[in-house]
Amino acid sequence: MNQNNDFKCQIWFTEYHNNNVALSVRIKDILYREKSEFQEIEIVDSYDFGKVLILDNTFQTTERDEFIYHELISHIPLFTHPNPKRVLVIGGGDGGTVREVVKHDSVEVVDFVELDKKVIEACKKYMPKLSCEIENEKVNVLITDGIKYVAETENKYDVIIVDCPDPVGPAKGLFEKEFYKNIYKCLDDDGIMVQQSESPLYNLDLIQNICKYLKEAGFEIIKPYTYPMPTYPSGFWSFTLASKKHDPLETDEKKIKEKLKDIKTKYYDEEVHKGIFLATPKFLKDAVKKA
Ligand code: SAM
Repeated sequence: MNQNNDFKCQIWFTEYHNNNVALSVRIKDILYREKSEFQEIEIVDSYDFGKVLILDNTFQTTERDEFIYHELISHIPLFTHPNPKRVLVIGGGDGGTVREVVKHDSVEVVDFVELDKKVIEACKKYMPKLSCEIENEKVNVLITDGIKYVAETENKYDVIIVDCPDPVGPAKGLFEKEFYKNIYKCLDDDGIMVQQSESPLYNLDLIQNICKYLKEAGFEIIKPYTYPMPTYPSGFWSFTLASKKHDPLETDEKKIKEKLKDIKTKYYDEEVHKGIFLATPKFLKDAVKKA
């Protein structure tokens, strides 16, 4: 319970999830605010969640809970693939996903395709805990639209990670049929993709559509997985994994445990790797079956 009754000079950031639900965090300071060609970018320093990146009034990532999201979007596909060398990251301008991806010794190249260079620049300056590996020699930063990139490139990847915001504005096409066909084309014969796929509670139809498009694109294994995300709408979030060959439930746990001796994680381990899929809620499994 908040014992602080001094309401003078308090600044709060509120994200409205719909007309009836909102989440607010009390902030100490606004560190950065700029309208780029694509979106309004803000970085604030908050009391409970550390530095927070906000795009178009929507929480993107916070220093306090980012590890849950970035570890799970990266290590699940990277440990499912037996030898990931070439990785494509689409979006993820804060750098948190790239930071996790380069922890894997097998990874030789990370093509990091982000639409808005201002997000990268702001996060490099104000959120170094996330952006610290953007300058890593394995990482090629490509400032362009991920939708256009996968349509045009002839590069092939072992793992593609789509670390995108909500399906609005320039990110809308990252949830459309054509995009998944191009992702399939850009993956090697045993490639794996993972995408941020919103709240199972609020956006079940969207997840179902993603699964349908992935199936139509030709993926053999399609599995959404869920986790707690305190600063996103409903506090309950999902990624969707699609694989041409390797099933995360068949990954050798001993191998993960061995590799984790050299990779520091806070949320992910060999038990989470399988448990997260085994614990998929029934209503979500039913929706996927109907896709
Ligand atoms: N973890 C976050 C979430 O779920 O809200 C996503 C964070 S990350 C900051 C999202 C990034 O995707 C933004 O920096 C945005 O500029 C980028 N983005 C949006 N549309 C894109 C597109 N079509 N191609 C590449 N990047 C895109």
